[in-house]
Amino acid sequence: MARQTSILYLDGVSVSFDGFKALNDLSMVIEPGEMRAIIGPNGAGKTTMMDVITGKTRPDTGEIYFNGVVDLISEDEASIAELGVGRKFQKPTVFESHTVWDNLELALKAPRGPLATLFHVTSGDERSRIEELLTLIRLGDKRDELAANLSHGQKQWLEIGMLLAQDPKLLLVDEPAAGMTDAETAETAELLKDIAKTHSVVVVEHDMTFVRSLDVKVTVLHEGSVLAEGSLDHVSADERVVEVYLGR
Ligand code: ADP
Repeated sequence: MARQTSILYLDGVSVSFDGFKALNDLSMVIEPGEMRAIIGPNGAGKTTMMDVITGKTRPDTGEIYFNGVVDLISEDEASIAELGVGRKFQKPTVFESHTVWDNLELALKAPRGPLATLFHVTSGDERSRIEELLTLIRLGDKRDELAANLSHGQKQWLEIGMLLAQDPKLLLVDEPAAGMTDAETAETAELLKDIAKTHSVVVVEHDMTFVRSLDVKVTVLHEGSVLAEGSLDHVSADERVVEVYLGR
């Protein structure tokens, strides 16, 4: 697929740490509106890949384009967030001493990027958007609950809601199901599918049951490059994937 029509385009991206290639000629294209799952063994380069996309790490070589034309390599971390690349880290970060509603309100009003404490009068449109987000993140009945009282899974959903409040064009999500109960994991897959109806999403995940339930194209990373790509059934049938990923 052409770079111009992609939401995210990586071509020949390499990063070395003290001579060790964490990313080695990594190329990948994500289409607008696509949800992609990234899998791979520990050390495959998944985190480094998220870091180069979000400007946390600068690649040694290669090209990274967002929305077809925006060269991300020349942008810093704050500008990349402002451009509409939202990143959800593994650990939930919500304002524990504020209610669910206030967390969403804060995120809606804050400029993209690091969240600032900006409470203003909330317009009707903003209230409707918060209502929509509450329903989407399955926390409609928790709106007045302090974030501190939410379960781990609910905090993850709240943070996803806060990221969505900032209206990203691309959402990067790191192991959303880690530490969740089975029921929360299943609900998170449904939540991400709902989000993918209106957003481009990249999900890094270890839990294969979870990846299977997403039912999306999978990219397998190994030693900093793409080893295989396709449906989970397709990549699972690839002997090289079985060897490196499943350790058989
Ligand atoms: P994954 O997320 O797939 O487990 P990472 O991207 O975290 O993989 O790491 C890829 C490789 O790069 C690993 O071998 C890791 O030790 C190495 N690495 C990552 N970040 C650094 C760093 N800041 N300094 C040195 N080595 C690093």
